[in-house]
Amino acid sequence: MKFEKYDVIIVGSGVSGLYAALNLNLNLKILMLSKKELTLCNSALAQGGVAAVMDKKDDNYDLHIKDTLIAGGYKNDMDNLRILVEQGPTDVKNLLKYGVEFDRRDDGSIDLTLEGGHSRHRIAHHKDSTGYEIVTSLIDSVKKLSNVTVLENSHLVAAEKDGEDFYTAVYHDNDYSYYTSKAVIFATGGIGRVYDFTTNSAIATGDGIQFAYNLGAEIKNLSYIQFHPTAFADRENRECFLVSEAVRGEGAYLLNCNKERFMHKYEPERKELAPRDVVSKCMMEEQKATGKDEFFLDISYKDAEFVKNRFPMIYSRVLEKGYDMTKEPIPIYPCQHYLMGGISVNGQGETTVKGLYAAGECAHTGVHGINRLASNSLLEALVFSRLIAEKINETTAPYEGEDTAEHDFRDPKGEKLPTGLRTEVRHIMQKSYFVVPDIDAAKEYFPRVKEIKEQLETGGYELTPEYIEALSIATCAFIVLNEII
Ligand SMILES: Cc1cc2nc3c(=O)[nH]c(=O)nc-3n(C[C@H](O)[C@H](O)[C@H](O)COP(=O)(O)OP(=O)(O)OC[C@H]3O[C@@H](n4cnc5c(N)ncnc54)[C@H](O)[C@@H]3O)c2cc1C
Repeated sequence: MKFEKYDVIIVGSGVSGLYAALNLNLNLKILMLSKKELTLCNSALAQGGVAAVMDKKDDNYDLHIKDTLIAGGYKNDMDNLRILVEQGPTDVKNLLKYGVEFDRRDDGSIDLTLEGGHSRHRIAHHKDSTGYEIVTSLIDSVKKLSNVTVLENSHLVAAEKDGEDFYTAVYHDNDYSYYTSKAVIFATGGIGRVYDFTTNSAIATGDGIQFAYNLGAEIKNLSYIQFHPTAFADRENRECFLVSEAVRGEGAYLLNCNKERFMHKYEPERKELAPRDVVSKCMMEEQKATGKDEFFLDISYKDAEFVKNRFPMIYSRVLEKGYDMTKEPIPIYPCQHYLMGGISVNGQGETTVKGLYAAGECAHTGVHGINRLASNSLLEALVFSRLIAEKINETTAPYEGEDTAEHDFRDPKGEKLPTGLRTEVRHIMQKSYFVVPDIDAAKEYFPRVKEIKEQLETGGYELTPEYIEALSIATCAFIVLNEII
């Protein structure tokens, strides 16, 4: 089989994949894969913004580190956290070079907002659609690079390593293409679709984590999963629309089923501004106390024009659902949101497999500890993908000679995937681990998840995107449940 040669394959076109491509040397031949259209990713959904110490008069690195440690339960990797906080402001400013526009104050400086868990205003944002602004600006910049080939709707369905080189199969339009490279960067995002309900986009099935696991890379703390307290309560859609933390940052109240504030009972000091895992747990306590799973977020007491202007996207999405947030509380409920664990990497994004790197939500840098502080994720995606690019620039010389290489590869054709396996795993995860793990349920269901994973591994199934997503969901669920039981 003939494999087309690239120096670097980047799997993912979210913030981490795009920013890595922009920081790699121009003499490297790069392939970027995106399994759906380029903007379908978690990065494009980011609302609140990106956190960084931009205003040194009012803020400093130690305060950002302290806030991150408090949110992370002091389980954070200190070295990587320092890298994140100290190098982050340069990367955020660097985004301006690629045309990213942040909201500005009257004096022209970047408008920094507050979010839960932050002791200072340090969140740079573009209205309430910061991620989309960053992703679309970076896509435009990457498309101008002549050394980067971007393949949309191109799903990585196999990754093997032989000697120093990686061999990959990519599914596109009912056909397969084959590529080889010296370095691979997984920038494949989170695992939200391992759950019935999540804020994550449809791509978040943990593919990179599954491939890395099967390539022998260390996976760390995959059970460090974040449940956001304020997803719009709409059980008809699997992808739950997020009502950003920034709404609480701007003063919104959390109300119980009786439309009464309750956070002071559990968090007398921080109240609604406690970190998101704490708020989600308080909601579960309040649910026990009231016996009802109804909750609301209320910012209707604030000036209506301010709310509409500050949260135009949230305002219109919620209005479509029949609620005017400038006039009434809106229904919310916790939902799977983010993965702190992932493919274990060092400070330069290197995994335990030589030549394999991981960045963004699929990677475990340890910066977040057990719970991510709001808006630190885009920052992590930027800082560590740039550091990966710098490492590859130092260590990887461009290919010389032939453009293709011969290599044996399994026949991608095979059995048809049975239906229902993905749904079964998702139900199991929803029952076994929602906000806090249910150890009894996890123990009960773990053998079934293991069985599904093994069936998928050994069943000789055709290498389709559906098969890879099923295998990835089952593998991630297996690792998570195995960690908690
Ligand atoms: C609703 C929402 C709001 C958020 N708000 C914020 C916020 O305000 N601030 C903040 O810091 N963070 C926020 N986050 C988190 C943050 O957006 C993500 O963690 C981060 O953007 C992830 O970036 P990424 O590059 O790692 O992955 P993603 O942006 O998810 O990109 C993953 C890419 O991998 C590709 N991919 C995956 N598998 C394959 C495969 N097999 N083959 C080919 N391609 C593949 C996908 O197609 C996609 O291009 C939010 C997340 C959500 C869901």
